[in-house]
Amino acid sequence: MASVLVVGGGVSGLSAGIFCLLKGFDVKICEKHSVAGGNLTGWKRNGYYIDNCLHWLVGTNPNAKAFNDMKLLGVIETDTMIYQPECLYTVSVAGKKASLYRDLDKTRKNLINQFPEDEEEIVKLFDAIELIQGFQHVKGYNHNEANSFIEVIKNIPALAEYYRLDIKGLAKRFKSPVMKHFISDMMMTADFTCLFFMVTVAAFCGDNAGIPNGGSMEMAVRMSNRFQNLGGELMYGKEAKQILINNHKAVGVLFDDNTFETADYIISSVDINILYEELLKRKLPDKLFKLSKKENEAVFSSFQLAFSCDSVDLPFEDTYIISKFTEAVHKSEINENKKYLNRQIIITEYGRCPQFSPEGHNVLQAMIYCSKAEARKFIMLKEKNPAGYKKLKNRLAYEIKEMIEEELPQLEGHLDIIDIWTPATYKRYVGSKNGTWMGFVLPSGKLPQLSGCRVKGVDNLFVSSQWIKAPGGLPIAISVGKKTANTIYKIDKINRKKHNKNSFVNS
Ligand SMILES: Cc1cc2nc3c(=O)[nH]c(=O)nc-3n(C[C@H](O)[C@H](O)[C@H](O)COP(=O)(O)OP(=O)(O)OC[C@H]3O[C@@H](n4cnc5c(N)ncnc54)[C@H](O)[C@@H]3O)c2cc1C
Repeated sequence: MASVLVVGGGVSGLSAGIFCLLKGFDVKICEKHSVAGGNLTGWKRNGYYIDNCLHWLVGTNPNAKAFNDMKLLGVIETDTMIYQPECLYTVSVAGKKASLYRDLDKTRKNLINQFPEDEEEIVKLFDAIELIQGFQHVKGYNHNEANSFIEVIKNIPALAEYYRLDIKGLAKRFKSPVMKHFISDMMMTADFTCLFFMVTVAAFCGDNAGIPNGGSMEMAVRMSNRFQNLGGELMYGKEAKQILINNHKAVGVLFDDNTFETADYIISSVDINILYEELLKRKLPDKLFKLSKKENEAVFSSFQLAFSCDSVDLPFEDTYIISKFTEAVHKSEINENKKYLNRQIIITEYGRCPQFSPEGHNVLQAMIYCSKAEARKFIMLKEKNPAGYKKLKNRLAYEIKEMIEEELPQLEGHLDIIDIWTPATYKRYVGSKNGTWMGFVLPSGKLPQLSGCRVKGVDNLFVSSQWIKAPGGLPIAISVGKKTANTIYKIDKINRKKHNKNSFVNS
């Protein structure tokens, strides 16, 4: 059988690798670290586990279309418990709060009661969210209903209205400032299509966005085990430096230890900018170039810190968002971009995973999204002035801790900072150009669309990466892996037929 070499063992690389193995290929994955998973990872600090990724995973409802693939990939195994929080997040704006509950009706009723001035828009929005649940096959009391054909046709205009709006546009329709924050603050950027917010609510309230028990690291281990149990070879500590091309063919991959691997088909799962600029030493194709050069556009990156907490008696469950301008970031030399509706602190507690902390303790993580300009500044500061970078990181972390304690005084004296990380950390760890941890931003008026998994002019080089389907994220990383494996399978079948025909003619 033909051989496949995958560069990068993140979720999209593992997914492509597993689907290629299932199609009968011999597969090797080269990963620059000593573990696979990429952004889907976690690490230990002072006896606490810090989870880098999973806040929600769309597709965990057995009735959802994506569920089967999750099982095939080992994302979810028969005995994997799926945690469904009762509340995904609560926003707090100057003492007023609004929560997204797992129960869609409860959320709708609560919001109408709290913000009667927005009743009309709330009803309209939640009707549209129920329609989206129908598309996901997770509508109704048991979260197992799909829309009928008539319903789909009848309701296209209602959804088309939201299709044209971004998060900013949707937030503007509401009078209450709390409702505006409720809509915008969990989302990475206000430039994002509002359908992303609606799809997230639809999935969460349809029990289709749970968290597999054990968090990110265990999910990455399950996928790696699945790959290896199917006969795949995971090569750790292998950083690709160049993909060598000869006569429209990728002849092999050169690694930083000067070793060289060849294969019939090569798949790249690294940041698309890095693939073209560093591994291929070429210009980005026009379409991708235009997308990545939008200087003012947000990227998915963040400044984050983790706290150990010597109490399990917390004033909130799961995620709490302090919805106000984060002065620490805005005053600092890092900020330039005032494009956001607001700048929120997203705090997540991990009581749902008691194994993450010593008994009687908890771990809390705080995240503040960054723009592309901010992310770049962290990266440049780290490169040019490591001491200044460290100082800035610490200063921001202490200011953010103070803000959290001011908002939630019950936590005062209970929090200790155990780690701080920035876009520069993501650049170093997963090798993304701007410290980005998702793909391109999906604006209003666009639906997620695959931009093609082939590299023009190179017959046997493919891409399986979240960058080829905006906005990225785990479900997209999983789905592009399948798509790429299917494409290679079809091409290989044609190649084999041609080869057999030629052998016959020549014999
Ligand atoms: C803080 C945070 C929260 C998130 N929350 C969620 C969430 O709740 N739900 C969700 O769906 N998604 C979430 N995501 C996004 C999700 O983690 C990513 O979309 C997904 O992991 C991307 O997978 P990928 O394989 O495409 O890319 P990556 O994870 O970037 O994988 C690329 C891999 O390639 C390796 N690599 C890079 N360069 C080389 C090289 N030269 N040679 C060899 N190997 C190389 C890297 O080490 C890495 O393993 C979150 C991400 C972060 C950071």
